Amino acid sequence: MPQIQKILVANRGEIALRIMRTAREMNIRTVAVFSEADRTSPHVRYADEAVCIGPAPSSESYLNTEKILKVCRDLNVDAIHPGYGFLSENAAFAQKVAEAGLIFIGPSAASIEVMGSKIAAKQAASQYNIPMVPGTVSAIQDRMEAKIIASSIGYPILIKASAGGGGKGMRIVASEDEFDEQMDRAVSEALSSFGDGSVFIEKYITSPKHIEIQILGDHHGNIVYLFERECSIQRRHQKVVEEAPSISITPEIRHEMGRCAVDVARSCGYYGAGTVEFIMDEERNFYFLEMNTRLQVEHPVTELITGIDLVKQMILVAEGNPLPFVQEDLTFKGHAIEIRVYAEDATNNFLPDIGTLHTYTKPDGNGVRVDDGFEQGMEIPIYYDPMIAKLITYGEDRETAIQKMIRAIDEYQISGVATTLPFCRFAMQHEAFVNGSFDTNFVSNYFRPDMLSTNSDEETASLAAVISAYILNLNAAGKPVQNEGENTYVPKWRSRRFAGS
Ligand code: ADP
Repeated sequence: MPQIQKILVANRGEIALRIMRTAREMNIRTVAVFSEADRTSPHVRYADEAVCIGPAPSSESYLNTEKILKVCRDLNVDAIHPGYGFLSENAAFAQKVAEAGLIFIGPSAASIEVMGSKIAAKQAASQYNIPMVPGTVSAIQDRMEAKIIASSIGYPILIKASAGGGGKGMRIVASEDEFDEQMDRAVSEALSSFGDGSVFIEKYITSPKHIEIQILGDHHGNIVYLFERECSIQRRHQKVVEEAPSISITPEIRHEMGRCAVDVARSCGYYGAGTVEFIMDEERNFYFLEMNTRLQVEHPVTELITGIDLVKQMILVAEGNPLPFVQEDLTFKGHAIEIRVYAEDATNNFLPDIGTLHTYTKPDGNGVRVDDGFEQGMEIPIYYDPMIAKLITYGEDRETAIQKMIRAIDEYQISGVATTLPFCRFAMQHEAFVNGSFDTNFVSNYFRPDMLSTNSDEETASLAAVISAYILNLNAAGKPVQNEGENTYVPKWRSRRFAGS
């Protein structure tokens, strides 16, 4: 069995660091690749070796397959971990890695290929007894036929790009009158964003929950599920809050969803870590949505409730080891919540807010994990996803995890860019979140930007007072003077009670 000696992490930011930390614990050397924009990033310093592979745009750096493979040859790398995003779900890359005699820490190129197409994924999964959202089972060729199917399913329906991802390439069609117009838009969007105009139809579930199952498979045909994550708090069909376990399902549903997830994985001969996503309606019927063939952003909540390091398992599987557990060995304990701290302005339609992190102080303490890739003074580059960090809390039950999250959000100090922290604090205190009645429409149902507005005159004055006190407290070298017991400024939104609290 090959023992991996050196891993190149073909990624950046928090996930690059997260992977390198586990590699170091396993006595495996690490290589960072980085773009010119990331020269001073923590992941570059953390790695045993680091190589600049090109200018800031990802097409010239993090997506540059040839350069990455050259670094592997030059530095005697034996395995590549792709993280998430970038090359992680690129079947051609996985194939090239294998052809270069390297280990791809992930599934086979064939599995990536099948699950990369939502249509092919559904077709593969249909060999098993897996519930699917009512809709078309192949790409739409004939509009008239599609319209007949749409009216037999009943409006509203969703037109989806088969190659879609990241919440893009979806169009809701409320009635038949809109069908042609939305279909034209969906096809042209799918072509321009994904280079593939194939679209299909799904019934639009009006109040759904997004629940997904973490799976792990090895090269010996063993596949297990590591329970679920609920990721229903989303904006633009993209997740902002995730938790494990879900309070919306019963042990029976968990078991049945787990079985379906394992079958989906089996349908494409899966090994490594993967996630099978489901959507669940108000009657708790669940349907297979898609499979993500990589480590997921929200994997830490699963790690916290199961005690299993998913990156370590990915590496062990890639070395050819059988999984060290069977399904019956697996249990979970307590509750974990993750919020994504994006440089985004929730009061401005969650638009990215690029700038410099003038203040950046992380929360800490019992039950708090921060996975990040930034430091105070760094810029949030415009070239990549604007996620600054993932803040994760763990407690013996959901209520404790929520309380810890509110405490941790209050400790998190970020200035220079707007972040999703105030929105996430709002969510944590909202009745619908607390009592579990939320669905993927949480933002449109309950959130209005004025619920976060902070700029009262009183607050502006108090902020000015804090800034001048801070400046007075800088020593000659510009370093803060530490005064024990000094009060720290707490922005007003942190102490405000929001509707629903
Ligand atoms: P992507 O690959 O872009 O992430 P998904 O198919 O995973 O697309 O769906 C992303 C999100 O879009 C889901 O979490 C859910 O909020 C919404 N969604 C997807 N399909 C449906 C559907 N049939 N009905 C209602 N909402 C849906």
